[in-house]
Amino acid sequence: MKDIIIIGAGPAGLTAAIYALRAGKSVLILEAQSYGGQIINTPDIENYPGLKSVSGFDYATTLYEQATGFGAEIEYTSAVSIEDKGEIKTVHTDSGESFDARAVILATGAKNKHIGIDREEELTGRGISYCATCDGAFFKGKDVAVCGGGNTALSDALFLSAYCRTVYLIHRRDQFRGSDADVKKISDKENVKFVLNSTVEKLNGEQTLSSVTVKDKISGETKDIEVSALFVAIGQEPDNSSFENVAELDDKGYIDSPESCTTKTAGVFTAGDCRKKEVRQLTTAVADGAVAALAAVSYIS
Ligand SMILES: Cc1cc2nc3c(=O)[nH]c(=O)nc-3n(C[C@H](O)[C@H](O)[C@H](O)COP(=O)(O)OP(=O)(O)OC[C@H]3O[C@@H](n4cnc5c(N)ncnc54)[C@H](O)[C@@H]3O)c2cc1C
Repeated sequence: MKDIIIIGAGPAGLTAAIYALRAGKSVLILEAQSYGGQIINTPDIENYPGLKSVSGFDYATTLYEQATGFGAEIEYTSAVSIEDKGEIKTVHTDSGESFDARAVILATGAKNKHIGIDREEELTGRGISYCATCDGAFFKGKDVAVCGGGNTALSDALFLSAYCRTVYLIHRRDQFRGSDADVKKISDKENVKFVLNSTVEKLNGEQTLSSVTVKDKISGETKDIEVSALFVAIGQEPDNSSFENVAELDDKGYIDSPESCTTKTAGVFTAGDCRKKEVRQLTTAVADGAVAALAAVSYIS
């Protein structure tokens, strides 16, 4: 029996752990993958106040060591449901184990959206990637494609243009949603080719990706583009459907909670990118972590 179970060891969850432990509460963190969450994928963070430049891995590791140094326990397992038994909450996991606590903090973050076409899962790690900064270096000198039109797609294309021979930027509209500054930077790159008004229809290749079939939405014509990798950057989505019994979700699946980080269930709190909000960044995630932890501490007391 712990005072607080935190679901997710991203920046929000680890910060919540630090605040709860310093307030004298016992904490168990449940993490489905590895500590650090999304930020582990970025080579350089330059907008975290007080740190001029730090890699995502180093930042996450320091945060993890800070939380475990204060006594946080961590179990690598996925939380699949929360049973509200009043003063006790039972969190069930995919390993079959269940854990009890007086309060729960949902810090499940968000994950990358998939295109939703045949063979996408099969070719993931064999040419399909959702993280250019993690996997880009494997495709040095090769032809690659990026799919998407927002800031992430633009910065992925820019990043890859430094390593790869050609970067095809495939976007379903005729204009990008990303910032004008990034569009200008990318337009100046000779090895970046825009494939606009187009969607990825098919993934080709035996063991690994060898080409993508794209369809021009205006002419209806299809063509194959030979690439060794396709970086999918079409946005993110939360995964909170298992917790709908304890927390209200908005139409996109984000947890609808006020600035106090409370939910519709007494003793269940939320923090970070999994919450409905305008800005999803480290600063906002760690701020939520502190607010949710202190609210949980006060609830328990
Ligand atoms: C490539 C990239 C670069 C970025 N660069 C910056 C930057 O430079 N500056 C900046 O401020 N922000 C940046 N961000 C955004 C920042 O990473 C996020 O805002 C931040 O990580 C959100 O933290 P979080 O803890 O809310 O969620 P996440 O980081 O998403 O962590 C959530 C954690 O919960 C776990 N989890 C989810 N569901 C379950 C479950 N059911 N059971 C157990 N565990 C679960 C996940 O595995 C994950 O580890 C970047 C994001 C990406 C993807």
